[in-house]
Amino acid sequence: MDTEHIVIVGGGLAGATAAKTLRAEGFQGKVTVVCAEDEQPYLRPPLSKEFLLGKAGEDTVPVLPDGWYRENDVGLLLGEAAVAANPAAHAVLLRSGTELQFSKLLIATGAQPRRIPLPGSDLAGVMTFRTFNDSRRLKEELAAGGKKVVMVGSGWIGMELAAAASSYGNTVTLLGLEDVPLSTAIGPELGGFFRSLHEKHGVQFRLPASAAEITGVGKAEAVVTNSGEVLPADLVVTAVGVVPDTALAEAAGLDIRNGIVVDSSLRTSSPDVFAAGDVANALHPFTGEHHRSEHWSNALNGGKVAAKAMLGQDVMLDIVPYFYTDQFDVSMEYSGYPTLAAGAVPVIRGSLEENSFIAFWLRDGAVVAGMNVNQQRVQKPIKALISGRVQVDVGRLTDPAVPLDQLLPVP
Ligand code: FAD
Repeated sequence: MDTEHIVIVGGGLAGATAAKTLRAEGFQGKVTVVCAEDEQPYLRPPLSKEFLLGKAGEDTVPVLPDGWYRENDVGLLLGEAAVAANPAAHAVLLRSGTELQFSKLLIATGAQPRRIPLPGSDLAGVMTFRTFNDSRRLKEELAAGGKKVVMVGSGWIGMELAAAASSYGNTVTLLGLEDVPLSTAIGPELGGFFRSLHEKHGVQFRLPASAAEITGVGKAEAVVTNSGEVLPADLVVTAVGVVPDTALAEAAGLDIRNGIVVDSSLRTSSPDVFAAGDVANALHPFTGEHHRSEHWSNALNGGKVAAKAMLGQDVMLDIVPYFYTDQFDVSMEYSGYPTLAAGAVPVIRGSLEENSFIAFWLRDGAVVAGMNVNQQRVQKPIKALISGRVQVDVGRLTDPAVPLDQLLPVP
């Protein structure tokens, strides 16, 4: 190849951020982003929040402004998918039959909603939720209110959609396999906080419960649970997690284990092929373990790191994992290592009753995760406590009168 050509497969946040970073770092070669969807790369978090709730318009969702790709000479192939890749030959085959030669390849194919083999899932009025079109459609269904909505899945997406559906004046019942919603992610104490929040707004829970069948003639009319309860439904959304989209990586013969296995600079088992975002199972320098994250910050920062690594820079994805959620009047941010926090009972600074607190999970005397609810501008010290492995005094940590900065070592 006369000119360097970096091919990015996957037009999500990781892919678009990588393209932007390549140009910001002065890369002058060719850049092509291959997007299976037929719209320019967009952000997913607003789809279950501001956009779905009608608080933000279509124009707020794209990752990069209209015209950016053209102005920065980045090829954007919309509605085109990569179907095969040959790392040794440095070639990617597209569905249209075109073959692209690459000097470096980034796979940022994200994840797909997990589909459960549920009788009746093909009825009208049953949907999964991942894309801009899913959000447009759900908004249309929910906006008039007065519908019976059954949400299958008690994770973040299920809970956010339940909040949105309920805010529009629909009747919402949520089923989940956990005893307490979100307890796999944040434990039963804090999961219980979110459950009460939802119950105060009229959301009903069936926990633990699974959907055994969706019944109806032509369209969904009810969900039958594993205990035989019949829940009337005009609309059923299944939100039972995602699976990393590894089809291309598998076809390319890369190492796969819960996503594409990459080192901390996001390089796969093939030296000129990188992976970032939801699809990448990256080695995390802090824990020394591989961790696949399905969150916004990982896709954003992973896109940046992969771009720099493809340019030969010595970089690592070494940020404290972070995510956020908004449900009803609660805004929450979480930083930390769920695997280290697992099993620890959180200590609380502030008041759960007043919807304003920070929960900290500790291990061996140091904070390993922190979750702030309706408290702004505390993420910086929380992340510094975690990344610095700072030994803390729990009395001071949980005393709102002690500024968090004062718990950090003096520089
Ligand atoms: P994706 O955004 O999934 O993009 C991958 C793209 O690649 C897709 O467009 C896909 O069609 C395309 N693709 C796949 N295979 C191919 C192929 N072979 N060829 C070409 N293209 C291909 N995170 C938070 O931290 N906070 C939140 O509040 C939050 N809310 C969310 C709400 C929703 C509804 C969803 C779905 C996710 C949310 N997330 C949130 C998670 C966050 O959005 C994801 O972690 C992030 O979008 C991952 O970006 P990505 O670029 O890795 O993958």
